[in-house]
Amino acid sequence: MKTQPEEVMATYQQLVDEISQDIERLQEEYGRGPCPSNCFQCCLNTSTIPISEVEARDLKIGLDALPEPIRQHIREKAQRTIEVLENKGFSPDKMVQDAGMKAIDVIKGKSFGECPMLVGGVCTVYEHRPVICRVWGYPIDNGTELACCKKTFIGVRRNFKPIDYANYWRRCKELSLALGAEEKTPNCYLVLKLLDD
Ligand code: SF4
Ligand code: SF4
Repeated sequence: MKTQPEEVMATYQQLVDEISQDIERLQEEYGRGPCPSNCFQCCLNTSTIPISEVEARDLKIGLDALPEPIRQHIREKAQRTIEVLENKGFSPDKMVQDAGMKAIDVIKGKSFGECPMLVGGVCTVYEHRPVICRVWGYPIDNGTELACCKKTFIGVRRNFKPIDYANYWRRCKELSLALGAEEKTPNCYLVLKLLDD
């Protein structure tokens, strides 16, 4: 019999499978994947994005599977970002309060703004990446507007049924609550914790 956390993670896996089906549908309708193979621009300013508990537990599986030199590289990237942020007076609590908006101003366009898990232009936890990383590049309904990467689906965004990101995100929050976690954690702090747990 599964434990309650195992049940929650199994439900999260179903949610991830639904997202994959949605993406397959859009790729089929669009005729191809939308991103150039050498682009990773959307991973460049994500070192502080808040990540939910259910996504964190999945990310840990990906991080645990990496060789130690890669884990050490990721650890050092996260530590560097944290050092810069804390020198500017930021703390994880402060960042969660405003969804990391002020911290983004500090890291944007800087090397320490890169997602710690991006190594040599490749996502090292691709199969376990957070929900927003799975859907970005496709038209998404975020609950208030139709959003999309500026480089994809140019001029045709409204021709496709968007991914219901608001619905996926709400379910992520519910699953995280079921695991007893109300708060999200900024990426760099989360990664460091997951690597050292
Ligand atoms: S988890 Fe992977 S896809 Fe998401 S921002 Fe980091 S490197 Fe990019
Ligand atoms: S979503 Fe946009 S920035 Fe990210 S890889 Fe695709 S084209 Fe590049």
